[in-house]
Amino acid sequence: MSETLFTKIVKREIPADIVYETDNVLAFRDISPQAPVHILIIPKEEIESVRNMTGAEHGKLLGEMIDAANEIAKQEGIFEDGFRLVFNAGAKAGQAVFHLHMHLLGGRVMKWPPG
Ligand code: AMP
Repeated sequence: MSETLFTKIVKREIPADIVYETDNVLAFRDISPQAPVHILIIPKEEIESVRNMTGAEHGKLLGEMIDAANEIAKQEGIFEDGFRLVFNAGAKAGQAVFHLHMHLLGGRVMKWPPG
C-alpha cells in the first residue's frame, strides 16, 4: 500500500510547520486552520482511524498523543483558556485523511454542537 500524506510529512517528503515531535508522535499546523490554533497530532505509525485502535494495543500511544496535546496547548498559550480535541472517524464524520490524527483547536470560543 502506498504511504499516506501524513507519512510523507513524517519523512519530510512534503513540508509542514512541525511544532512537536517525539519518537512516536508528530504534530504540525493544519494547512486550512479552523481556529487561531489548529494543530494535527498524529502517530508516526500508519493507523487508518481511531476505529482501528484498542485500549489494549494503543493505550500508551493515545496517552502520548494526549501528552502532546497538553504540551502544545501550553506552548501555544491556550492551555488555561481551553481547547478542543477531535478525532473524525470515517468519511461521514468528516475524515478526509486516512492516517489517524487528532485535531487540537483553540484560540477562540468554540460552539457546541459542532456541525
Ligand atoms: P480530517 O478531515 O479529520 O481527515 O482532517 C484532515 C485535515 O488535514 C484537514 O483539516 C486538512 O486541512 C488537513 N491537511 C490536509 N493536508 C494537509 C497538509 N499537507 N498539511 C497540513 N494539514 C493538512
